[in-house]
Amino acid sequence: MAWLTLDQEIYHKAGLLVDGANIEPAACEGVGETIMEKVWWLFVYDLQKQSGLKNIPDYIVFPKGTIVDFRWNPDSPYWIRKNDGIIYLEKNGKFVCPIEFVERPEYYSKNTSSGTPMKTVGTMRGKHGLMVCSPLFCSNWVEGGPCKYCNMNPGMDQYENKAITKKQGDEVGEVAAAMLAEGIDFHLVISAGQPPRGKTTVDDHIEILEGIKRMTGLEKIPGTDNISPPEDLGQLERLRNTGIQCLFTNIEVWNPDLFKYMCPGKDRNFGQEHFKSACDRAAQLWGRGNSWAAMVAGLEDKASLLEGCKIMAERGTAMLMIPWVPMVASELQGHRSPEAGWHVEVQHKALEIYEQYLPEVGGKQAYYDQYGCPSCITISTHHDVHRLRQGIDTAYPVPHGPLGKLKDEKKGCLNPKLKELDRFRNGKSETLSL
Ligand code: SF4
Repeated sequence: MAWLTLDQEIYHKAGLLVDGANIEPAACEGVGETIMEKVWWLFVYDLQKQSGLKNIPDYIVFPKGTIVDFRWNPDSPYWIRKNDGIIYLEKNGKFVCPIEFVERPEYYSKNTSSGTPMKTVGTMRGKHGLMVCSPLFCSNWVEGGPCKYCNMNPGMDQYENKAITKKQGDEVGEVAAAMLAEGIDFHLVISAGQPPRGKTTVDDHIEILEGIKRMTGLEKIPGTDNISPPEDLGQLERLRNTGIQCLFTNIEVWNPDLFKYMCPGKDRNFGQEHFKSACDRAAQLWGRGNSWAAMVAGLEDKASLLEGCKIMAERGTAMLMIPWVPMVASELQGHRSPEAGWHVEVQHKALEIYEQYLPEVGGKQAYYDQYGCPSCITISTHHDVHRLRQGIDTAYPVPHGPLGKLKDEKKGCLNPKLKELDRFRNGKSETLSL
């Protein structure tokens, strides 16, 4: 049953990332019981501060498997509604398609051996991402100046449903083991706020990675460490030796003058060139295509961003284009990100670059081998556009995680009436020109 084509799903994913959505209280029924509730683990991606709803769903799943964050914005053109037990997406008052939320994993009701709720140690992203930010605190808010699009510290201060600040290695390991035990084939992302100048989170992250290995028996860990690079880039070799699959570091903005303005703390403590050098070192240590740089797409013009993409691809690093959303409590709250079509076009052009200069990322096999996939990367359209360009049917590439495959491709999806929705189709779907 085709509701939207994959490129239409991708367009709406980009739209939901930059515009967020509103939701009817009825559509939140079951959230925190059978449906996975939102637990903030890194930033608060909402455009406005939530109010009035106790629990909201964390992710929106389209019929072809495209998954995207649910970001609160009462002024969004998107609405999530429920009618006769069916949950669906609407834009500007027009029906788009039925959607699903992600099933609440069993481990969300469990505690670690020290009594900490597991969901606050390792949060699930999409259907099987294991997300850990340690520390969930950035020193740039204290000295140097935060990045203008960021809300890590003040955003977390506003909410109770959030991860704990610092995670212990064995506790994260217990969460990873609990996920595997219930058949969730995780892709890991470890992240962190920026430590004060002269400090590093390398040792903390090694402790977490070793904790996962101890508690699961894994020798190689699928996923990535996203780290603020230490001053001594030689430290990265210690991270590589843990068996983590690839390294991320955040260049954020390519134009060097804009970087200074947007990221004053990062500029003062390290400077943009240090982040590029860390990417180069990662490409040497992990191999081409296993070094990634996160970019906040939409802060600068297309030409500048794609110039950086090509230069870094030739050097062995891929850029993950993350559409900028003007988050609540960031200095840019209330601004506008470019339209969805802009972000989709940039993503296609980035994939064109990888196909030509970095086939380790742009080629077909890379879809199956990468650190993440469309079912856990909910903040970027990279993996979805990759899937589209390669003509791949499934959003759940196998093998990918430690189990080798998801137990059930549809595990995590709820929408029992999906097959009964023909009545929505007769002329009500929005017509898109992409
Ligand atoms: S380095 Fe910048 S984007 Fe990252 S947490 Fe700190 S202020 Fe936010």
